[in-house]
Amino acid sequence: MKKLMLKAPAKVNYRLDVLRRRPDGYHDLRMIMQRIDLCDEIEISLTDRPGIRVVCGREGVPDGPGNIAWRAADALLALSADKPGIDIAITKKIPVAAGLGGGSSDAATVLMGVNELLGLDLPEKRLREIGVTLGADVPFFIFGRTALAEGIGEELTAIDGVPAAWIVVVNPNVPVSTAWVYQNLQLTGEAARVKIPCFFENVSDVCAILSNDLESVTIPRYPVIGEIKRELLAAGALGSLMSGSGPTVFALFEEEDAAVRAAETMRARSWFAAAVRTI
Ligand code: ATP
Repeated sequence: MKKLMLKAPAKVNYRLDVLRRRPDGYHDLRMIMQRIDLCDEIEISLTDRPGIRVVCGREGVPDGPGNIAWRAADALLALSADKPGIDIAITKKIPVAAGLGGGSSDAATVLMGVNELLGLDLPEKRLREIGVTLGADVPFFIFGRTALAEGIGEELTAIDGVPAAWIVVVNPNVPVSTAWVYQNLQLTGEAARVKIPCFFENVSDVCAILSNDLESVTIPRYPVIGEIKRELLAAGALGSLMSGSGPTVFALFEEEDAAVRAAETMRARSWFAAAVRTI
């Protein structure tokens, strides 16, 4: 039986500009996306029993066809002459519906893993094309580098030389619907005029570009997001921002000690918190 054990990392958005609403209902975005070492664990096995089985066992995440990982495996199985069974076991470590891209990363990891296990040899470009049909952030996780993401997130340009940092992620566990956030966003047109520098000498330079247009929707409704940002800055962070459509807040630190201490302080407030490296 062929088997792979893989890690599916989370992401944070150093930048999220909403440029315009598109006729198809999506938004044109400009994002700077960074992977972090907070990972789901995914075991993929080929079996003799036909069909795809996904087991996750985490509240709020469906097993079976409702899971984005199931749809990723199905998309590749459709391209394969062999039709073996595929068993997928997901251990969630990334908070769910949190703005950390957990589901998208699981899907990207399954696309790459099943491509290898089935010997399909699809190039990265083709996997990214399949990925965007599953979710706008999936191509970024296949790309696997810090990126400027444009369009709905699928037009990717590598940004080299972004300094490594310690990232503290804090999830206050309030439910924020991505659809609700975009429905309530007031577009000013200002974002499209702002140029973002993509050269960074140190972590402070990265902090200078932190911005997320979606905070204007979420912070007034969920003041805890602003509160966590303030607490992380008070704990010594060089910068702090909400990731994606929230509600997770992250902060950048240069030193491990300060990051670990800040995460402990946040956990003492009964929030999910972790201190991890950028990857
Ligand atoms: P993004 O940052 O891409 O908007 P997110 O981090 O906000 O993503 P996810 O954790 O990917 O959100 O979950 C969004 C929804 O997708 C959840 O409501 C969940 O039920 C569903 N879902 C399906 N498959 C998965 C999966 N493998 N992991 C997490 N959520 C999944």
